[in-house]
Amino acid sequence: MVGQYEELSCPFCDKGRIQALYIPGAISVRRSGTRSSPGKQSIHKSRDVWLIKSGCGVCGKTAKELERKLKESGMI
Ligand SMILES: [Zn+2]
Repeated sequence: MVGQYEELSCPFCDKGRIQALYIPGAISVRRSGTRSSPGKQSIHKSRDVWLIKSGCGVCGKTAKELERKLKESGMI
């Protein structure tokens, strides 16, 4: 799987460091229509994916809680 590790700061306590795997969204070309009546091509980019790999060692939040909070605050 393609991805890179990033270190994020904890959104709860701002002191802890969280290990996250970042996978950039893939770009794919989609064709609408059928073989006999081809439509236009459209470029589709899937969402970037963040996988939170660790909880916060400072405030004790779990990876799941961190992921939800980071998504809510628009950081991931
Ligand atoms: Zn924390």
